Amino acid sequence: MSVAGDTDVSARGLEIVEKNRRFTLFEWGRQAGRDTFAVERAKGVYFWDSSGKRYLDFSSQSINVNIGHADDRVVRAIKEQAEKLPFISPFIATEPRGLLGEKLAAVAPDSLNKSFITLGGAEANENALRLAFAYTGKRKVLSRYRSYHGGTNAMLQLSGDPRRWAAEPGMPGVVRFWGPYPYRCPWCGGGGDCANECLNHLEDVIVHEGPHTIAAAILEPIPGGYGVIVPPEGYLAGVRRLCDEYGILLIADEVMTGFGRTGEWFAVDHEDVRPDILTLSKGLTSGHIPLGVCMISDAIAEHFEETPFVGGLTFNSYALGCAAAAAVIDVYIEDDLVANSKRLGAVLLEQLGAMREVHPSIGEVRGQGLFAAIEVVRSRRTKEPMGSVETSSPHQWVMDKVKQRLLEEGLYSMVRGNVLVIAPPLSITEEELLGGLATIDRALQIADSEVISD
Ligand code: PLP
Repeated sequence: MSVAGDTDVSARGLEIVEKNRRFTLFEWGRQAGRDTFAVERAKGVYFWDSSGKRYLDFSSQSINVNIGHADDRVVRAIKEQAEKLPFISPFIATEPRGLLGEKLAAVAPDSLNKSFITLGGAEANENALRLAFAYTGKRKVLSRYRSYHGGTNAMLQLSGDPRRWAAEPGMPGVVRFWGPYPYRCPWCGGGGDCANECLNHLEDVIVHEGPHTIAAAILEPIPGGYGVIVPPEGYLAGVRRLCDEYGILLIADEVMTGFGRTGEWFAVDHEDVRPDILTLSKGLTSGHIPLGVCMISDAIAEHFEETPFVGGLTFNSYALGCAAAAAVIDVYIEDDLVANSKRLGAVLLEQLGAMREVHPSIGEVRGQGLFAAIEVVRSRRTKEPMGSVETSSPHQWVMDKVKQRLLEEGLYSMVRGNVLVIAPPLSITEEELLGGLATIDRALQIADSEVISD
């Protein structure tokens, strides 16, 4: 019946899926013909479906299970907190809340020392925007095409991803600009000074919008959901410079890139960029409990000492989540996972480069740390993509088939449009990484056979 049907054939699995489909609405897309399967257990870099089949998690689910699934140390911290105090109003102080704030301040860029603790990434961005508007008294925000900032109404409208179309018309004050995409750069075609071209474009947008009307620019340092588009060196630092020059706050959305994913604690660390606001989620608790964070600079924190900040949710600064996140940060440090991401990220890129040599369907490979992508094309010359997130591509079935083959072979991955994203838990070993890549190597023969001769 489905990808899942082929792999998870147990009666119990089918029953679970049927009940899920009957009584719950699945995310993002139509319900009819929904392809899914039942998972019952997860540990480390693996999870198991209802028939007992094991999958290597090569995307850390939604690029969030950074330390691996069900870490014993985190589970213990959650149990202990649940027995003591799972929840108390955010108007009241708790030990895990302060502890988490302290740990975040220790690992974040040095001017970010205060956290507003939400329940997920979209809420962190919602509050980032409201803090920026309140702090600057301005109401416009710059965001990029090819970006994703969350699934709430406002964050969808802020995003530059086609998922926003269903939520439009958009909120007032959002102005979009183009970020670098070296492989498909309309200005330099990948061979020129991509960073400077894009920075000139951004400066034009700022000048013509009127800097005195713009509160903030928000960006993912590496747009993830759009295909791990690594910017050219100097771009992030250049955006910081422009923001400083024109009096605009810089919000770095590191919901996906944060917590070691790119081989540094945060992607802005690669260029030593200090955003005014940093939003985080995903790797913050590594999937153990929902949680997000909006970290603010000392200057913004100072402003809200006297000026009231109008924002909060019943579950803000959730004690159980804070205890989980504090334990997760300890795991990153104890297991040296950020360094592992950097080391294995180099191995990953080298291997992907070698795969590109033998697979004509690979247009480009790119990545930073354990955050990489294979861009699949019909022709290297024309770069015609083998699928699309913007339009209904007649070739998308090829990517679907590749993903299906990977699942059949026990590898869980993320495919968007013509891009296969590789982002395993940072706790993966080199042997496991190479094993997963060998599976991808085999599955890509499906795409190779659909390449058109140049
Ligand atoms: N920002 C980025 C860069 C993301 O990738 C995501 C989710 O994928 C979000 C924000 C939204 O996070 P959440 O789904 O936790 O609300």
